[in-house]
Amino acid sequence: AESLMAGKRGLIMGLANDKSIAWGIAKTLAEHGAELAFSYQGEALKKRVDPLAGQLGSDIVLPCDVGDEASIDDLFAALKERWGGLDFIVHAIGFSDKNELRGRYVDTSRGNFAMSMDISVYSFTAIMQRAEKMMKEGGSALTLTYYGAEKVMPHYNVMGVAKAALEASVQYLAEDLGKDGIRVNAISAGPIKTLAASGIGDFRYIMKWNEYNSPMRRNVTIEDVGKAALFLLSDLGSGTTGENLHVDAGYHVVGMKAVDAPDM
Ligand code: NAD
Repeated sequence: AESLMAGKRGLIMGLANDKSIAWGIAKTLAEHGAELAFSYQGEALKKRVDPLAGQLGSDIVLPCDVGDEASIDDLFAALKERWGGLDFIVHAIGFSDKNELRGRYVDTSRGNFAMSMDISVYSFTAIMQRAEKMMKEGGSALTLTYYGAEKVMPHYNVMGVAKAALEASVQYLAEDLGKDGIRVNAISAGPIKTLAASGIGDFRYIMKWNEYNSPMRRNVTIEDVGKAALFLLSDLGSGTTGENLHVDAGYHVVGMKAVDAPDM
């Protein structure tokens, strides 16, 4: 099992705590032999990320605020000094003002629209500009998205619009970087209780709805997402790029409320 990611080095961006999707991915990759580096946003998170990285045998924990070009440059300069090259990258970052993750999309402010797009969408392109230069032998990149990009979900609002743009950017990045052997994919994860998700209005209701109405009649875990990430980031995904892989217990294929779902 260890051989799947043996000899591969990758950067995990977006680890906040042991509930983070980035943690489910990092654990799975480390179990299969990957060597990991982590970036965190802001000093407050460093004391959480340091011990988690340590658990997976990593001492490469670097600051990066993806809203700041200089901060992204510093991250990649430090990584280049340490490793030279890079085999994979995980972008598990999103942000919006939680006051606008409830109520109506039509009321989104210009300022929060721009900020949500900048942090949740452009940042992936910005990091791929740097990562490309370090992936001389090809590579694999992964971002995280949600079904609210494809269909209207309650309260997701501007994040739905941002995820639609992120999914489109995955396709454009896949085209630009494919010739150099760099694959770019997304995982569309079902709802998972994380720090970021707690900002979304009625999130418990959304999770219950998914549990009752998905084909598998359950929610997904960060470990489910980790296993799909292992496929996309390892040689198992060698023929797959520009893909949006749903890890949502099948919810995205459902057309109406399940007949056995309880009233809510
Ligand atoms: P999380 O709160 O654990 O992770 C979000 C991360 O984004 C945090 O580590 C935070 O520090 C980072 N971040 C925010 N702004 C940043 C900035 N300016 N610079 C650097 N980092 C920044 O929550 P999560 O749910 O694990 O989120 C990871 C990704 O998964 C996000 O893109 C999210 O939209 C996506 N996603 C989540 C769910 C869900 O239900 N939890 C479902 C589908 C997709």
